[in-house]
Amino acid sequence: MKKNVYLFGAGKAEGRATDKNLLGGKGANLAEMNRIGLPVPAGFTITADYCNRWNELGTEKAIEELKPEVEKGISHIEEIMGAKFGDRENPLLVSVRSGARVSMPGMMDTVLNLGLNEDTVAGLAKKSGNERFAWDSYRRFIQMYGDVVMGMKPESKEDEDPFEVIIDKIKKEKGVELDTELTTDDLQKLVARFKKAVKEVTGNEFPTDPWEQLWGAIGAVFGSWNNSRAIYYRKMNGIPHHWGTAVNVQSMVYGNMGENSATGVAFTRDSATGENIFNGEYLVNAQGEDVVAGIRTPQEITLEGSRRWAKLQNISEEERKEKYPSLEEVMPEVYKQLFDIQKKLEEHYKDMQDLEFTIQEGRLWLLQTRNGKRTSAAEVRIAMELLEEGKIDEKTAITRVNANRLDELLHPEFDKSALEEATIISKGLPASPGAATGRIVFFADDAETWKAKGEKVVLVRIETSPEDLSGMDAAEGILTARGGMTSHAAVVARGMGKCCVSGAGGIRVNYKERKMVAEGKEYKEGDWISLNGTTGEVYEGKVETIEPKMSGNFGKLMNLCDKYTRMNVRTNADTPKDAKVARDFGASGIGLCRTEHMFFEGDRIKAVREMILADDEKGRRKALDKLLPMQRGDFEGIFEAMDGLPVTVRLLDPPLHEFVPQDEKSQADMAKELGVSPEEVFNKVESLHEVNPMLGHRGCRLGNTYPEITEMQARAIIEAALNCKKRGIKALPEIMVPLIGTKEELKMQEEIIRSTAEKVFEERNDTVDYMVGTMIEIPRAALTADEIAKTAEFFSFGTNDLTQMTFGYSRDDVGKFLPIYLEKNLLEHDPFQVLDQTGVGQLVEIGTQKGRSTRPELKVGICGEHGGEPSSVKFCHRVGMNYVSCSPFRVPVARLAAAQAAIEENK
Ligand code: ADP
Ligand code: MG
Ligand code: MG
Repeated sequence: MKKNVYLFGAGKAEGRATDKNLLGGKGANLAEMNRIGLPVPAGFTITADYCNRWNELGTEKAIEELKPEVEKGISHIEEIMGAKFGDRENPLLVSVRSGARVSMPGMMDTVLNLGLNEDTVAGLAKKSGNERFAWDSYRRFIQMYGDVVMGMKPESKEDEDPFEVIIDKIKKEKGVELDTELTTDDLQKLVARFKKAVKEVTGNEFPTDPWEQLWGAIGAVFGSWNNSRAIYYRKMNGIPHHWGTAVNVQSMVYGNMGENSATGVAFTRDSATGENIFNGEYLVNAQGEDVVAGIRTPQEITLEGSRRWAKLQNISEEERKEKYPSLEEVMPEVYKQLFDIQKKLEEHYKDMQDLEFTIQEGRLWLLQTRNGKRTSAAEVRIAMELLEEGKIDEKTAITRVNANRLDELLHPEFDKSALEEATIISKGLPASPGAATGRIVFFADDAETWKAKGEKVVLVRIETSPEDLSGMDAAEGILTARGGMTSHAAVVARGMGKCCVSGAGGIRVNYKERKMVAEGKEYKEGDWISLNGTTGEVYEGKVETIEPKMSGNFGKLMNLCDKYTRMNVRTNADTPKDAKVARDFGASGIGLCRTEHMFFEGDRIKAVREMILADDEKGRRKALDKLLPMQRGDFEGIFEAMDGLPVTVRLLDPPLHEFVPQDEKSQADMAKELGVSPEEVFNKVESLHEVNPMLGHRGCRLGNTYPEITEMQARAIIEAALNCKKRGIKALPEIMVPLIGTKEELKMQEEIIRSTAEKVFEERNDTVDYMVGTMIEIPRAALTADEIAKTAEFFSFGTNDLTQMTFGYSRDDVGKFLPIYLEKNLLEHDPFQVLDQTGVGQLVEIGTQKGRSTRPELKVGICGEHGGEPSSVKFCHRVGMNYVSCSPFRVPVARLAAAQAAIEENK
């Protein structure tokens, strides 16, 4: 027969810490604490496996099956605690507690003081010599049991708990404020009124038989696994429904026996900063959740913490000592014991612990321990300090940090308390993390001029285009009404490490009147708003931000990662400034330098437009000659910043229409500048129009139809590299052709590049090493990678386009249906954020394998947005890539994920 109940108590236990799947986190750790000799009230755990069985069998049959084991469990507790369940002289009371594999705070239910009735309450009073305590326990029990088991807990937060209403009423009658001020008489009255309320609301008498109470509570805890709160929480956090919760039945210990009793929670380190400092809160003469319930002000456990707290509250030392003394002062002996125990717990679990304790008449009991939740900053600090203290090894330290949250350390953030008071006016996609606050502007040039005047601005656009680049750079943050996670705004903002909320469908932007409407309210140019790029929330007004500090531990962690990583981490950078930022974050090269962004710098856009408007090759060459020195200069700057490291430069990629003005006025301006008629400009712009530009005249299709563009870019790259060489700077250019679908396309581009390079070498009488490779971003390229690798010296998977073309989702239009797809579970993740390993991933694998079948030494990387997303980075490792490339601010995230992938592989 299957064992369903596991006993613990008096320094022994049938379970242990590693039994979390079977006993739940709480049960496994209660067992473990017994094993290491900590004072834990005796009890037993009914397995989480039984949760499903209970709900399948139905209450009656389940009780019949479980009865022998549960009865044995109760006898076990009775023996150790020297009391009897249901006995009128010496009653044993128990708590019935839920506990799943992972903690689900506040999701499921617990009942305390179970076993009380009119008889046992008298026994408890006599045995303890404390009548008030006995009745206080009884009224607590009726309340919890009524709420949890008999279904009296109100559904919504707005509705009042009927028991709380009665307590408030009695306190008013008595003219007192605190529960602790109620006398035995009052509590007896309370119990009578509680029972009456139970009868009125449920139609049933409150059960008096302790066994009936026990089975009721066990059933309620198993049932609570399926309450709507718990189901919702599991969905949010991806916890499988079949796990189930365990039930812990444990002898009560009483923190409510008077002034020498107390209850509290403690952390072995600071969960916000990670500082190695014991801390926590407690309450005298209290039970269970009183500490967190906020009825009374909890007190600090340590003297140091207490003093710090008083200072923040503006409370004098005298007042603190009198009203809010620390446990260290009030019960120095118990404090010392608790201090030693928390140390022992951390030593044992080798991680920061969050523990619950109760002091019964000067005697300390431990009721729970678990790995404490913490901020990302604390996570890094604790991992590195535990490593330094010799408690964990390097690999463990690396895997302790959640790569997804590392972002938090790199961007400014909102002050928590300021955020609580702010009003949310819209919600969009968390396109680029961080916090931004500034005054609304609707045009990129306004962003620049306002910034020049010393104003902080937020750029609000329906969507952004490459023309807005400098304005985006000038803004504190960017908000767009349209566009997904890989929209222009999102990609560029992430690259800049700038806060961005994209696709906030609830706002309407009116450029003409320079205003936007959100939640029915108008916001004009100059009004303050704030963006949370980590959550996608948009706030009215100014919300205070704080700058993050890059702690020394963070750098240490990064260095440690390099020791275990097999893949390199490069960056996507288009400017020397970005390249430098990324290099400081540890990038080992540039994996994607987009040349088109350079076309917008300063007034060079004029030459670009001249090139586009030219009627023939001659005209184009004339304009390209003007661009050549500018691009050469840009490349030199970037090669210099990346001295000694490889730089992958992508040839011109976007459709040409993105470079020409779309509205009448700008077209007229442009005509004037170029000395042509407005009609001519208009007609040319019209002729560039495409029904589906993403699949149109772009990428290598430009370079193959206008070879002079590729020629100019290749020349600029090679000349820049030679110039650098002269100055003692080592440039390692890798020239990358975008949007290849056939081997012929690449072959033609390669010939242009190589012949241009040869020409330059001859002219300069000098050479440099360079490579020619391609992006793999069209499914056909992945499928014919063996042919393409005959020419390509390297591959870089452009997974943004590859995802777009594999799914057939337009990157710029996904905002309309993707959120609904995610909500309806048609997709698990946004495939533009998290690489779709099943589908797109296959193409990546096929492409890599086929490519290497032709050219075993083929260098393979990824340069889509996925290069900075942890689960995708791990996938790239498994596929055998040489590197991933991501925006500068994601470099540390990718470095960590790459190291974790290597460590996981060797396990
Ligand atoms: P949660 O999982 O929500 O923290 P718990 O089962 O840990 O719920 O219990 C709620 C509160 O009751 C906690 O403060 C806990 O310490 C307290 N508690 C639970 N069991 C006992 C017990 N046997 N004796 C005294 N207090 C208890
Ligand atoms: Mg708890
Ligand atoms: Mg692309």
